[in-house]
Amino acid sequence: MANRKNNHTRYIFVTGGVMSGVGKGVASSSIAAILQARGFKVTSIKIDPYVNVDAGTMNPTEHGEVFVLRDGTECDQDMGNYERFLECSLSQHNYMTTGSVYQTVIEKERGMFYKGKCVEVVPHIPYEVIRRIKKAGQHNKADIVVIEVGGTVGEYQNVLFLEAARMMRMDLPGKVLFVMVSFLPIPAKIGEMKTKPTQYAVRALNSVGIQPDIIIARAPVPLDNKRKEKISIFCNTRKRDVISAPDVESIYDVPLNFEKEDLSGNILQKLGLKPRKKDFSKWRELQKQIRNGERKVKVGVVGKYFATGSFVLSDVYISVIEALKHASYKANVKLELSWVDSEEFEKNPAKLSELKKYDGVVVPGGFGSRGVEGIISAIRFTRENKIPYLGLCYGMQLAVIEFARHAAGFKNAHTTEVNPKTPYPVIDILPEQKTLLNRSQYGGTMRLGSYPANIRANTLAAKLYGTNNLSERHRHRYEVNPKHIARLEKAGIVFSAVSPDRRLMETMELPQNIHPFFVASQFHPEFQSNPFNPHPLFYGFMKAAQK
Ligand code: GLN
Repeated sequence: MANRKNNHTRYIFVTGGVMSGVGKGVASSSIAAILQARGFKVTSIKIDPYVNVDAGTMNPTEHGEVFVLRDGTECDQDMGNYERFLECSLSQHNYMTTGSVYQTVIEKERGMFYKGKCVEVVPHIPYEVIRRIKKAGQHNKADIVVIEVGGTVGEYQNVLFLEAARMMRMDLPGKVLFVMVSFLPIPAKIGEMKTKPTQYAVRALNSVGIQPDIIIARAPVPLDNKRKEKISIFCNTRKRDVISAPDVESIYDVPLNFEKEDLSGNILQKLGLKPRKKDFSKWRELQKQIRNGERKVKVGVVGKYFATGSFVLSDVYISVIEALKHASYKANVKLELSWVDSEEFEKNPAKLSELKKYDGVVVPGGFGSRGVEGIISAIRFTRENKIPYLGLCYGMQLAVIEFARHAAGFKNAHTTEVNPKTPYPVIDILPEQKTLLNRSQYGGTMRLGSYPANIRANTLAAKLYGTNNLSERHRHRYEVNPKHIARLEKAGIVFSAVSPDRRLMETMELPQNIHPFFVASQFHPEFQSNPFNPHPLFYGFMKAAQK
């Protein structure tokens, strides 16, 4: 049972076929979740084929949200799904990119680790990948490691990771499983579900020496028997191993949907593991909760407009969206989310009154100056009109600026991120960060990962958390400027959570006799919410919005 030496650990590689964006991350999370529900210790790894060493320097419009782990690792949003599905906290061991793998191999080579050998792409790169996968298994004391290989088979970028997977299977017979998440389109003109792209994708995988053991067939509707038969014959898999995965209402329906075809039993059998238990009650409970909400709650997320071509990228705020959903499940309401482009308020301030139609307003994290004045006006509107407000990171900094300007008499107060010459830099960079920034070392200038804070008694934060301390994840460069704190407090801002050394303001709020719910945090609470345990700040916000 124990697997300190990794001998008993099993590995499941999840690869994508046909195209991206069909829910490989959710499928991987769900596979891990159903195995966890069968009593196994499961951990998940994401492999990103980018040359970037981590996701920290990637523009969110290219890559979606940058998720932050407790240890400060900046990674892919799929890691957020793993944590939410497994109710766990992952670390740097659970994430790798092409860049990080090469970096290690090059560092080892420079350190004579290879003892003068010619270091080659194959096998040394796959060896390093395998070493990391095993390490993650050990570190998490996992019985089963689920490894999601980013990208789609047939792409040049992920070949070395697939090579590592193939080598692992050869090394550990019976202990490595391959799952391919495919997509079956229904072309509008034909109206028939097509299996051919899946057949090609399996052949592409075959060409690198891998035969999928299980095919997850994503499609708009469930697979019929005929499609299953076709895939079975042409893709060399038993019918039982072709899992129908139709579109569902909520991503949290996927684990139970997989179980309809006994996927966990099937996987355990293939890996030679005896099921230890079967407890899907929390998933069933959640499924009910998701559907229970009757009363609508309208939430407006105000920010700069993120677009790729003519599509809005809500992926950028995926954890915020999920955290709002989690809170809505628990509060028994139906969440109606809208994106509000702050630049519209700059062009036409009369539009601000449209914010009245929302039961609550959220300003999420962000960087740079675009749309900032519009956001500040929106925050002022929610403050003056007593609309519940939740600010996240930039959403706290801009709320402090708004308050400084309009309630504390700091004319033209700003953050030095946007206006370095402001007379009142209420948000500023800490001196130690300045030297790094001057050297353009952007990779290391942020406050990243979990930090503790003390919560002040008799504040809204204390009431919501129900404790006198917290530990939350960060990702930002700027802080509330200690020089201005006293005057801001005198004007009515309450900094309800502060770092243990009292230098850093972690949350701000307005007293409830002034505003029903005005709370903002310097950290990102959304990273620690899961559907079984909604985050207290989001839950408090949702309850306030419900009123
Ligand atoms: N731009 C701000 C900072 O760097 C806020 C960052 C954020 O919202 N994640 O401090």
